[in-house]
Amino acid sequence: ALYANLEPGRYTFHARITNKDRDKVIAETSIPVVIEPSVWGTWWARLLYVVISLVVIFYIAQLYVGIRREKKNRLQSLREKEQEHRINQMNMNFFANVSHEFRTPLTVISGPISQLYHDESIQGEQHRLLKVVNRSVNRMLQLVNQMMDFHKLEEDSLRLEVKRQDLVSLMKQVSEFFAVNACDKNIEFRTHGLEDIFLMWADADKIEKILNNLIGNAMKYTPAGGKVDLSLDVISHQDAQKLFPESALVPEMQYAKITVCDNGPGIPEKQRTKIFERYYQLRNTTQEGMSNWGTGIGLYFTKRLVGMHHGFISVFDNPEGQGSCFCFIVPVGQAAYGEDEIGNSIISQTSLFPLQDIDSSKSQETNTEENSGKPHLVVIDDDVEVIHYLKLLLSKDYRVTCRFDAMTALETLRNQDDEVDLIISDVMMPGTSGFQLCQQIKADNQLCHLPVILVTAKNTVQDQIEGLNAGAIAYVTKPFDPNYLQALIKRLLGTRDQTRKALQENTQTDALDENALSAQDKAFMTELYRLMEEELANPDMDINRMTELLRVSRSKLYYKIKGLTGENPSSFFKTYKLNRAAELIREGKYNLSEISLLTGFNTLSHFSTSFKRHFGVAPSDY
Ligand code: ADP
Repeated sequence: ALYANLEPGRYTFHARITNKDRDKVIAETSIPVVIEPSVWGTWWARLLYVVISLVVIFYIAQLYVGIRREKKNRLQSLREKEQEHRINQMNMNFFANVSHEFRTPLTVISGPISQLYHDESIQGEQHRLLKVVNRSVNRMLQLVNQMMDFHKLEEDSLRLEVKRQDLVSLMKQVSEFFAVNACDKNIEFRTHGLEDIFLMWADADKIEKILNNLIGNAMKYTPAGGKVDLSLDVISHQDAQKLFPESALVPEMQYAKITVCDNGPGIPEKQRTKIFERYYQLRNTTQEGMSNWGTGIGLYFTKRLVGMHHGFISVFDNPEGQGSCFCFIVPVGQAAYGEDEIGNSIISQTSLFPLQDIDSSKSQETNTEENSGKPHLVVIDDDVEVIHYLKLLLSKDYRVTCRFDAMTALETLRNQDDEVDLIISDVMMPGTSGFQLCQQIKADNQLCHLPVILVTAKNTVQDQIEGLNAGAIAYVTKPFDPNYLQALIKRLLGTRDQTRKALQENTQTDALDENALSAQDKAFMTELYRLMEEELANPDMDINRMTELLRVSRSKLYYKIKGLTGENPSSFFKTYKLNRAAELIREGKYNLSEISLLTGFNTLSHFSTSFKRHFGVAPSDY
């Protein structure tokens, strides 16, 4: 007998033997059977289940309570932080407002004081007193400005404005200020690497603040008789990476490395990262011999400014012994900065490329005899300083006409009584931009042969492409090297003279260099050559006849032919006739009197003298 799936429990198996008819029991027996439950079904297992369940429920409850408590704590600390931030913000706003209030009267005070300080009639003790006041006012102004910048930094509204700068002159300017300080305190202040000039992309105002903070600290913490060193070096990407191994540097970028070393008390190893934190001060204000009236924001501010420049700062022991060295690196090239970080106002051209050896009295816009033979340039810029600079630079070799906006310039060019040779224009101008001006010049048949140089502070490749597409022949970025601009103008005028010469020597445009003329000017010259050929035999071929044929105004045609060929129309027509006569002589099909008739000379003798004057040989000897 087989029983499957019996529940655990006690059973009795009964067995009987009966007769054939099954009505009589012959024998009978029974077997008790116990089916044990499985391990997991036993009572103790069930008890265990209950206990485990209870424990799990307990822990879940604990966890739940814990999470709730933590959430509550976090919320509270968040609220506290928010509160702190609000108070901080209020403080900052208060300081910023107060600083702002201070700034106006301070500026008002500093003006007259500086005037008095530079007044040569004040000497001796009074001058010394003025010096103290002047320096203190400037220092206060500096602090107030820093406070305002700090506020902007915290509000995330401080913006970087990098331009191409001479870092050396900037560093020299800052160090000159501290040199006086150092002298007063009997500190030896030395600079290294500040020879020559070093042009790089940086925000001068912020670099100045970084330097002011670092050198200011060095002066503050260095005792009398000590030494402070400021040095500039330019290092490769690899060297910069060695200095700041864990920092993400701009690939393949050179870095300017500026170091300020002092032999003050130095900074203990443990505090070297902390000093760059906000409000962190190493020594307390009561420390003897130290006028530590700082705020603990100087280095924090410095680090943020260096960071804005995509640079890095660190401090290490002065290798010369006692004291510390603060070293920061900032990228040199424009590629490190985004478009929104690049300043669009131009730095003073003169500050970077001062004009030397130019006698300004000689550079006035005059129409003297001396000037009349010089090429005529029209300079267009809305910045008076740039106009003045260009005029001073170019008046020696060129006649310069200045205009301050594109529309007036265009008017001058169109109503010219005076031939113009080249145009130099700014791009960003109120009203019509330099690009638009360039397009209008190129779209005007009368003016399109004039070369335009765009001089501009917009210096992305995209801008340059836009400028060249607008028809400019060259694109120069501000601040420009005066030598480069002069060489460029000379070169462009030289190329133009070559084209003029070719036009005077040829009788069709096909013989010209492919790029000598723009498509528009080429079409004009082809048409002019065609008409001159048609009118070759006409002795009365002159500007009036051509004006009639070309249906343009007389003055427009005059300036167009003069501008393109360098000759006035009647002389150009005559040159053409003589060139054709020379060709006909070379062909050998006609005799000289036939040729003189074919080329519109009334008499053979007139033809011969003109030919000899032009080619230097008589037609019979040609
Ligand atoms: P503070 O306004 O107090 O000068 P900083 O942020 O400029 O604030 O500097 C932070 C701390 O770093 C200062 O309290 C000072 O103790 C320390 N420190 C900064 N520069 C120097 C230095 N050149 N030599 C020694 N200690 C310095």
